[in-house]
Amino acid sequence: MNVLVFAESDNGKVAKASFEAATYGTKVASKTGGSATIVAYGKLDDASLKELASYGITKILHCSAVSDLDPSQLTRLTIAAAAESQAELIIFSHDYTGKSIAPLVSAKMKAGMVAGAIDYPETNGDFTVKTNVFSGKAFAQVKIKTDKKIITLIPNAISKEKQEGQAEVIAYSPDLGAASVSVKEFKAEGGDGINLTEAELVVSAGRGLKGPENWGMIEELAKELGAATACSRPVSDIGWRPHHEHVGQTGIAIRPNLYIAIGISGAIQHLAGVNGSKVIVVINTDKEAPFFKAADYGVVGDAFEVVPKMIEAIKAFKAGQA
Ligand SMILES: Cc1cc2nc3c(=O)[nH]c(=O)nc-3n(C[C@H](O)[C@H](O)[C@H](O)COP(=O)(O)OP(=O)(O)OC[C@H]3O[C@@H](n4cnc5c(N)ncnc54)[C@H](O)[C@@H]3O)c2cc1C
Repeated sequence: MNVLVFAESDNGKVAKASFEAATYGTKVASKTGGSATIVAYGKLDDASLKELASYGITKILHCSAVSDLDPSQLTRLTIAAAAESQAELIIFSHDYTGKSIAPLVSAKMKAGMVAGAIDYPETNGDFTVKTNVFSGKAFAQVKIKTDKKIITLIPNAISKEKQEGQAEVIAYSPDLGAASVSVKEFKAEGGDGINLTEAELVVSAGRGLKGPENWGMIEELAKELGAATACSRPVSDIGWRPHHEHVGQTGIAIRPNLYIAIGISGAIQHLAGVNGSKVIVVINTDKEAPFFKAADYGVVGDAFEVVPKMIEAIKAFKAGQA
């Protein structure tokens, strides 16, 4: 089965989740006797492209002229690259761009799609893909019955793996028609922080923090750990934190290696976005808080005492390492 992987650009570099998608695509292609191609877009630096080329891919079709903010052109680009590489399966990352382009490609190509894969597909006999359902409380094995298939892969669900050899990078410029949007101004909301969807470590806080003025210690803890910051929905609704930090059923779904939840009760809607995390640490004054049921490690205590001690301990640990 030939596989096409859609690689996302992130400020001139290939997004981390795309290396995982490349690993996924390569493995499915080799298991099913096909080859894997990547379609990449936008201005990408050479080092990023070179790294992408070392994931067992046969070739990279790089279309530099397309804007990452034009879903119609990205859709047409993906469809053209799928035809060029004779792909039967297209892999996207399950993040903002992937989630917006994959359904458009699916509808245009009449391809069955599974959103949010968390593992490699079963390819012996039926083609089935494992996903989370019911806010992460159950798994489903979803069968794709169409000839053309699309999967969006949850970031951090599988590990990226380099392989021997380098793919050929080909400048690719199919006729995509006129752009449907023109970008007048671009203001990044997230600043220079770590991208939340791709972060391996996340420090998150909720209404237990009492007010926005208390986030200094959360940011400091995140900085010491090299983690991204996140928050519960009420916190972003009241404007204590920006909306792009909101995780949960109506926010971003993440699967970091470590999720530290501070002053968050653990409502089902919050858990829906974080219960795929590999290790969950909960800090809460209320020992009955529902989050403790989902936690691997729990601290029953006041965030205003526990978090500064954690920061101190991390700094001491790092100083000892230096
Ligand atoms: C349709 C729908 C969708 C929703 N989607 C989302 C979503 O995507 N994401 C989301 O987060 N929520 C979502 N919610 C809201 C959700 O139901 C909860 O109301 C919300 O998650 C609670 O946020 P919280 O835990 O920050 O606040 P609270 O429920 O007020 O909990 C605060 C916690 O902090 C603890 N605490 C207090 N003081 C301290 C202290 N000093 N130190 C340590 N701990 C302390 C308390 O014991 C408590 O457990 C949704 C709700 C609905 C109805």
